[in-house]
Amino acid sequence: MKHVLGFAAALLAGWLSSDAAQAGVEKLYILNCGEGVAGDISRWSPGVNEGKSMDFVDSCYLIKHSQGWFLWDTGIPDAVASMPNGLVPADPKSVTWKRPKTLASQLEQIGVKPVDIKGMAVSHTHPDHIGNVEMFPATMLYVQKAEYEWPGADNKPRFKPEHPVTLLEGDRDVFGDGSVTILSTPGHTPGHQSLLVKLPKTGEVVLSGDAVHFKTNWDNRGVPVNNVSKEQTLVSMERISGLLTKDNAQLWINHDKAQRDGQKMAPEFYE
Ligand SMILES: [Zn+2]
Repeated sequence: MKHVLGFAAALLAGWLSSDAAQAGVEKLYILNCGEGVAGDISRWSPGVNEGKSMDFVDSCYLIKHSQGWFLWDTGIPDAVASMPNGLVPADPKSVTWKRPKTLASQLEQIGVKPVDIKGMAVSHTHPDHIGNVEMFPATMLYVQKAEYEWPGADNKPRFKPEHPVTLLEGDRDVFGDGSVTILSTPGHTPGHQSLLVKLPKTGEVVLSGDAVHFKTNWDNRGVPVNNVSKEQTLVSMERISGLLTKDNAQLWINHDKAQRDGQKMAPEFYE
């Protein structure tokens, strides 16, 4: 009898918790996906801060939606964690990246397995954003067609052809309820994208990708020397700026260490 009552209580508890859970985004975790030092930040804002070095961070974001887990960006490859000098760039003005924590260990700490993540998107295909895509070989990847078809070095494909993919031509409402929207923001690369997330308590947040690299770069509308299109970059920045005003959204800048130093990191989360 005791056993039966216990079972009934468990059923009731399950029913209550599923009833109480609201639809849409429940949690957002910020994951440490790399830390680095940029040699010369005028590379991102020509003419500003010439010769000045700056610390960078690299962020990934894990979203718990009522329909499943969604990962935004995958960061520096986990293999870099075992390289004592980190990833040293060919251009000394660029960023030397290290991996103080792996993505795998942070997911494990939260209790999420790679197979639990049903959807993922990367802002673009630079190596500090796609480093761990194949940790999730069965996860649906949302990427702009223009980025997917952009030839890589030696004309190599940007992703493994067998990786499940949804090719986008513009914005995408991922869960169909307006809570997670991929925004087409080209310019840094041909198919660059950003992410608009509606959190129940925090409110609306735009995850920048590399539409902008750090706060002063945003404030002076600096266009990095290596961007594929200056015109598109400026249009995309204005688009994001308009969203921030219209929806009273926050801009979370992926590589901005000063901003991220003030944010909660996984296993803490935003609601
Ligand atoms: Zn980039």
